[in-house]
Amino acid sequence: MMTAYMDHKDLANEVIDEARTKEITDGVHRVLDDIAKAEAASGRESGSVKLLAATKTRDVGEIMAAIDAGVRMIGENRPQEISAKAEGLIRQCAQRGFSLGAAANAQNSAASQTASNGHIPFHLIGQLQSNKIGKVLPYVDIIESVGSLEEAQKIARRAVARHIVVGVLMEVNESGEASKSGCEPDEAVDLAYQIAALEGLQLQGLMTIGAHVDDEKTIRAGFAHLRGTRDTILKSGEPGTAQCRELSMGMTHDMDYAVAEGSTIVRVGTAIFGERAFI
Ligand SMILES: *Cc1c(COP(=O)(O)O)cnc(C)c1O
Repeated sequence: MMTAYMDHKDLANEVIDEARTKEITDGVHRVLDDIAKAEAASGRESGSVKLLAATKTRDVGEIMAAIDAGVRMIGENRPQEISAKAEGLIRQCAQRGFSLGAAANAQNSAASQTASNGHIPFHLIGQLQSNKIGKVLPYVDIIESVGSLEEAQKIARRAVARHIVVGVLMEVNESGEASKSGCEPDEAVDLAYQIAALEGLQLQGLMTIGAHVDDEKTIRAGFAHLRGTRDTILKSGEPGTAQCRELSMGMTHDMDYAVAEGSTIVRVGTAIFGERAFI
């Protein structure tokens, strides 16, 4: 069962012990350090790559330890996990003076929106079934995994009905692996124009998952192609494309390649929290 792990772990748990806190703190510091080194090695400006902590299977206490260690963006894969953790995360963040994700819209917004370092974006990085859209929109401010016009239109309709604008990264299946979602690379530019034009959405960039191979050239070719696609879209002048800047690419094992190829967001789980006990 895909979600069987939820029976084994209380994802709403808010208290973790000192040893686990230290593990996560060290993990965050190590990853931030690795990002800084990768930026320097590829001649990129310091701070140009943001760290998103991929928090699937981690509980509220573990995620807050990562935030306390310097994480300023989080991403969940599954609507059920968002439901289990969101209230605890929002409350814990508020205690530290942070607003989290779309909940900032609901809070008295001036304070949460003006101090940009006081806001922690909350992304959905996994697939979203249409019947779960209403469940996640109160919490996430960016959906990274939009791979078709139909999906985009469904999200857009819900956003318009709620009088909100949802940030979107379009997912592209650069590796062509059947296990991966996202649109075809050669359809990406046209699809991006259609998504960018939808009311209720703001296209903020592109996302991909690196090829599942050991070969550096193959992995980097996919990342480089996504960057080229982003550049084409951004230069196009098509309606709604002016904010299509982000390149969400790079995970624990291919982060350095992604930074070298222009990533602006790396999504890291294992290197922060350790191996996942459940899939
Ligand atoms: C789990 C996950 C990550 C992080 O993977 P790690 O290898 O644990 O760093 C990044 N992106 C997506 C979409 C994920 O599902």
